[in-house]
Amino acid sequence: MTIQRILVIGAGTMGRQIAMSCALGGYTTVLQDISGPALDAARTELENWSASRVAKGKLSQDEVDSALQLLSQESDLTSAAKDADLVIEAAVERLDIKEQIFAQLGQITAEHAILATNSSTLPSSKVAAASGRPDRVCNMHFFNPALVMKCVEIVRNADTSDATVNAVTEVAQRLNKQPVLVNKEIPGFIANRMMGAINKEALNLAQSGVASIEDIDTTARTALGHPMGPFELMDMVGLDVVDFIAQATYAETDDEADLPHPLIVEKVAAGKLGRKSGEGFYPYN
Ligand code: NAD
Repeated sequence: MTIQRILVIGAGTMGRQIAMSCALGGYTTVLQDISGPALDAARTELENWSASRVAKGKLSQDEVDSALQLLSQESDLTSAAKDADLVIEAAVERLDIKEQIFAQLGQITAEHAILATNSSTLPSSKVAAASGRPDRVCNMHFFNPALVMKCVEIVRNADTSDATVNAVTEVAQRLNKQPVLVNKEIPGFIANRMMGAINKEALNLAQSGVASIEDIDTTARTALGHPMGPFELMDMVGLDVVDFIAQATYAETDDEADLPHPLIVEKVAAGKLGRKSGEGFYPYN
């Protein structure tokens, strides 16, 4: 099937940038949120982002003008969803809310519409049944910031059809992203599992006094070629988010090795959440 109209649900950190990526890819895009202020903030951020891309010569005025023209905003889900061929759900990370959204989408979207969730921790099988069309449901997992990061993990659930995988792969390619296919649902998918393993080893090395966090980060950058060290990256992501992802993984696996690392628990309890709170592993002014 050919996808022409995309609905993005949730205008927060991820949804607003996913929606702009879709509009830049030439799709007629609706960004929906129950919060008016979130929609207003999204519009302002995307207009500022567009102006700065033009100023830096990365995009032309025509490109951003036509993308912003293709992108509309809506607070009512029913009218936002009526013409969508693909829905990318990026609402708040709560299973009850996502289930409710997918149940509603199953009723109000066209029969052919594909329903994808951007969730990092909830596999689409958790919401597929609620939609009544599990073969047209999958995860389409973008990375933060979605306008910059190339990778999109396409995660199929046991019922996802090949036609669905092919259609969302084509969309990701048209957004100038690099889609990768995850054949089985597994907590953390690919990227967060690999990142989790690196973070855990870095935290253990620091905790046992083998090396300072500065030297561990320097090693990651200068020996492994990573753009950022694990402590710098965890500070950027937010230590509360790192904590939440570990808790969600533990809830799925029941494996104590997946529990949040004690150094993360300590920082979160002290309100040291990384860049956003002014201090995490490093201080920020
Ligand atoms: P966020 O808190 O920044 O934004 C969530 C938005 O959802 C808010 O604007 C809120 O008003 C809206 N919302 C809440 N209930 C809604 C409803 N019923 N209908 C429509 N909108 C609703 O969250 P985020 O960080 O953008 O995360 C969104 C999703 O993306 C989550 O599933 C998360 O796992 C996933 N994700 C996040 C990141 C990240 O780094 N933040 C990365 C990859 C994936």
